[in-house]
Amino acid sequence: MVKSESPPPAAGNHMTPDEFRRHGRQVIEWIARYMESVEEYPVRSPATPGQIRDALPAEPPEVGEGFEEILADVDRLILPGITHWQSPNFFAYFPSNNSGPSILGELLSAGLGVQGMLWSTSPACTEVETHVLDWLVAMLGLPDRFLSTSRGGGVLQDTASNAVLCALLAARERATGFQSNRAGAAGDLVVYTSEHAHSSIDKAMRIAGLGHQQLRKVASDAAFAMRPDALARQIEQDRRAGYKPCLVMATVGTTSSNAIDPVAEIGAVCEHEGAWLHVDAAMSGTAALCPELRWIQPGLELADSYTFNPHKWMFTNFDCNAFWVADRRELVRTLSVLPEYLRNAASDSGEVIDYRDWHVQLGRRFRALKLWFVIRHYGVEGLRRHVRQHVALAQEFAGWVQQSSQWELAAPAPLNLVCMRHVDGDEATRDRMERINRSGAAFLTHTRLADRFVLRVCIGQRATERRHVTRLWERLEE
Ligand code: PLP
Repeated sequence: MVKSESPPPAAGNHMTPDEFRRHGRQVIEWIARYMESVEEYPVRSPATPGQIRDALPAEPPEVGEGFEEILADVDRLILPGITHWQSPNFFAYFPSNNSGPSILGELLSAGLGVQGMLWSTSPACTEVETHVLDWLVAMLGLPDRFLSTSRGGGVLQDTASNAVLCALLAARERATGFQSNRAGAAGDLVVYTSEHAHSSIDKAMRIAGLGHQQLRKVASDAAFAMRPDALARQIEQDRRAGYKPCLVMATVGTTSSNAIDPVAEIGAVCEHEGAWLHVDAAMSGTAALCPELRWIQPGLELADSYTFNPHKWMFTNFDCNAFWVADRRELVRTLSVLPEYLRNAASDSGEVIDYRDWHVQLGRRFRALKLWFVIRHYGVEGLRRHVRQHVALAQEFAGWVQQSSQWELAAPAPLNLVCMRHVDGDEATRDRMERINRSGAAFLTHTRLADRFVLRVCIGQRATERRHVTRLWERLEE
């Protein structure tokens, strides 16, 4: 894509600002052309195992190379091994969309290169983050208890997986009177979630030192949403056996089928039992930008923590997870460790937020910058328009499935995910999916629901238009 136009710099020297300016333009030009042409690539990488690595030199270069040479190798060596998540024909897993303002915010964050572990290590890094997370509370119609001006507050994490881990650690502490950090994890604590919840809760259990036996997968209803009556019954049974409920994780938009757990009823059970309620809305939380779609979140006022991923459906490139707690003191008390070398007057004053106490790692980058750019570039109305368009396309697609003699819906399609199966059975479904994926024309993934192989069509890529969706449907009907 990029032609060599200058001699390589003296090997091994730092890139000068002028060289950076020149190569930076080349990289921006590369990305812009990629945005223009991404639709032309086979969506799923056709690379075979080991193919990319085999093409790389066995040894690192002893002497530095010219930047043009490096960039040319991106085309030659890297692109063949890329699955094009930014393609408008990407309907697999979940959207992981980026956008111009987000990429530029990311670049600026790298350029500033700050560590925002403490307020004092870069005040803007902390204050913009707090501000943007408060904006999001209003933008999504979340309960005021998550505002930093109340007892709660939000923080940007890398992923929803780390968000649920932090929620679980805080819940574990609260359930043991803040003793488990001192004495180790408690064997009598039990965690509940639906059988369709994301696997990140399983991993969080391992990291938090709670055994797999302490995780209960609660039965779901016909729409694959958690059954609050089954939850209450399971807790009662566990209490009788000497266990103590620690945390319940409800999902707003499960990965498999986009099922929406009844958060209000689950929250009532949590309130009664004194269990921490964590709500995972990784992809679907973005829908709440649209007031008419906020039917997905009644009951959030009962949540102790809530999370969604702007890095999925909100045009903010990975990684960017938003995580809120209703009482920040519980989280900070759980995670705060203060070595002498981090002490400073601002922290001692108690007037500032030190986000190092809100997650696992110490170091943190200026992740809020790209989110701030995205929100300012699109405006709330602009973001809503795109989300509405994706939901409308998915609803139209679901309508085609319902009318089709070949396909049937495998689950309700509340938002932007359509789950479907072929009337001829699992092999026919798998065969259609593999044929499309092999062709490179689109990329689809599957799940299992009610023990049937199910095709998932997730609509949420930034560049996806109606023509991409109609073309996919034509291919599925061929
Ligand atoms: N929760 C749900 C419902 C998801 O769909 C996903 C990802 O697919 C996750 C959590 C994990 O997200 P992350 O990659 O941010 O950890």
